[in-house]
Amino acid sequence: MTEAATLCRHGAIGLLTIDHPPVNALSRRLRRQIELAIEEAGRDPSLRAVLIAAAGAHFSAGEDLGEIEGALGGAEPPEAELRALTLSIEDCPKPVVCAIQGACLGAGLELAIAAHYRIAAPEARFGQPEVKFGLIPCAGATQRLPRLIGVPAALELCWRGEPVSAEAALRLGLIDRIAAQDLLEEALAWVRELVARGAGPRRTRELAIAAFDPAVFDGARTTAARSFRGQAAPLKAIEAVEAATRLGFEDGLNLEAKLARACLGSDEARALVYAFRSERAARKIPGLVRGAPPQEIRRAAVVGAGTMGGGIAMAFANAGIPVAIRDISAEALERGMAVIRHNYSISVERGRLSSREAEERLALIRPQLDYAGFEEADIIVEAVFEDLELKKRVFAELDAVAQAGAILASNTSSLDIDEMAAMTRRADRVLGLHFFNPAQVMRLLEIVRGARTSPETLATAAALARRLNKVAVVVGNCLGFVGNRMFEQYRREAQFLVEEGASPRQVDEALREFGMAMGPLATGDLVGLDVAYRIRKLFEARLEPGARRPLIEDKLYAMGRYGQKTGAGWYRYASARLAEEDPEVERLIEQVRSESGFPLRRFTGAEIIERTVFALVNEAARILEEGIAARASDIDVVWLNGFGFPAWCGGPLWYASRLGLAYVLERMAQLERTAGPHWSPAPNLALLLRHF
Ligand code: NAD
Repeated sequence: MTEAATLCRHGAIGLLTIDHPPVNALSRRLRRQIELAIEEAGRDPSLRAVLIAAAGAHFSAGEDLGEIEGALGGAEPPEAELRALTLSIEDCPKPVVCAIQGACLGAGLELAIAAHYRIAAPEARFGQPEVKFGLIPCAGATQRLPRLIGVPAALELCWRGEPVSAEAALRLGLIDRIAAQDLLEEALAWVRELVARGAGPRRTRELAIAAFDPAVFDGARTTAARSFRGQAAPLKAIEAVEAATRLGFEDGLNLEAKLARACLGSDEARALVYAFRSERAARKIPGLVRGAPPQEIRRAAVVGAGTMGGGIAMAFANAGIPVAIRDISAEALERGMAVIRHNYSISVERGRLSSREAEERLALIRPQLDYAGFEEADIIVEAVFEDLELKKRVFAELDAVAQAGAILASNTSSLDIDEMAAMTRRADRVLGLHFFNPAQVMRLLEIVRGARTSPETLATAAALARRLNKVAVVVGNCLGFVGNRMFEQYRREAQFLVEEGASPRQVDEALREFGMAMGPLATGDLVGLDVAYRIRKLFEARLEPGARRPLIEDKLYAMGRYGQKTGAGWYRYASARLAEEDPEVERLIEQVRSESGFPLRRFTGAEIIERTVFALVNEAARILEEGIAARASDIDVVWLNGFGFPAWCGGPLWYASRLGLAYVLERMAQLERTAGPHWSPAPNLALLLRHF
């Protein structure tokens, strides 16, 4: 055991240092030790005050995740002990002060607000992120925060789960001061000052709640229901804060405990904790030589200033990496730069960036029509049109201009990385970096490992992904990699459903209800049915002769209905995003249905969800069998971060595993009889779902 809470004496001040690397997680042992130390300090007549400080970079990032996982599995949850700990700190007869640096999150913040005074380093962050794990605070934060910082701010912290800076915390009254230089020294000086002026404990639970507008609760509920569609925890957090305004502190605490317990029993919490763990697991890349140091990336370059190239350049600039961006067309380059400028100006308008920050980032992006200066780049990302011959030419050019050690990456959505690598004399330094649109926003990055990509190149890409604030998943080189390969099956099944009797609207609505950001057919209209057509043909070329193929979208394509960009696709678009059903499409669907001869039937929303999600699951099993993904959880990470799969369902594989292997297999067997042989379960599906 490495954790410890030690009490030592600085004159009349008891300095209680918590030390549990790396983030001072409040484990059972640590909680016990803190409680004992507080009791001892309270009893010790030579001490007049207590200062709680933390070793390491963070005050405390909260509870021990392993303990939460244990509680999700039925073990005794830590909440009763945490509650007792916060009460014993608050009850201490001597003033208790916290000196806070780094993360002060979850139970860490609960502990801090149970203390009587708080001082923080300027870079400290404060938050109650429990809702992100499907949970709510359980040691009094929903009752103390409204008393300390008022109802609206307490609500925000508890239901959104977003942290605030030290500066914001000071403004809110969450902390009393910010240290100018040395946190511990200034904290000790301040405690001496408090003792000298005879300041006593200032118990948060005894503060009166400031006047507020009762409409804040309904407002928060409406926004929470929209931003966390399908999730219960944010609404429970709001309920708990509301209770603080109606009930006394004790009763409020009891209600918070009841709500927190209900969250612990929820599928939502299990799925969200699994999703968090899965992201962590994805960082471990199989086959990496231990200690192989990643190459340093000081400068980057991008080829192609279109939709993706511009976003990728922004992602580099946002991480402080200077980036050159080249296009062959002056017009495309200017258009690309205009989009980048526009995106930054929106961030400034929305208060996410100051205009100075936006200008600094923009200044890091150097637009150009040639390769001048590309020899300085440590990594070059190609994002030209999706055309293999063109990409091969570009790779040959890049190999000639780039410095010998530079990495060459392609942002291709589906093409063969090895064919591009073969055009260079550095196949070990070639890989795919598949960003998602918009590249400066979307968290997912598929790192595509070619046949000859070296472990050092992969390690460099993984380290770069972290700098770019991306969730990276290493995948193998195959058509569509992991995400798009599965997406193809998902969209194909959506189209089959329409051929068998569902309306496009019904399919899209069912999946939106399920929690997807957008339905699969509407997504086709957004991406472009021309783009979807080209990709579909690549996949269809690999099908057995006579295999079932979707029919309607080919006809929409032939009619020039490419989706939003032509004002018509699966839907008709009177204005940019207003999708209306179109009688012309309805007629087309009728015609295809009568030709294909499938017996028509009605579908429930549940059936639509099942068929499209199970199509993902079956393809995932094949992907794993082929070794294209290293672990099942990597596939869920791809779908949660790149395709808007609802986080509280954990990802397609987690979701299916909750329904149970027997059920999934039985449904697939039925579908094999009614919808086509493509439903034959992948050979390793049983093994895969049993593994969860
Ligand atoms: P785009 O058409 O918006 O942009 C491509 C740009 O490349 C154009 O500006 C074009 O002028 C430029 N270009 C063409 N040949 C060039 C050359 N030889 N040198 C320099 N520039 C050249 O395309 P996009 O949507 O940005 O897609 C780019 C790549 O990213 C494709 O491989 C695509 O499959 C992939 N991708 C696209 C998306 C998406 O949603 N759009 C998502 C992930 C990956």
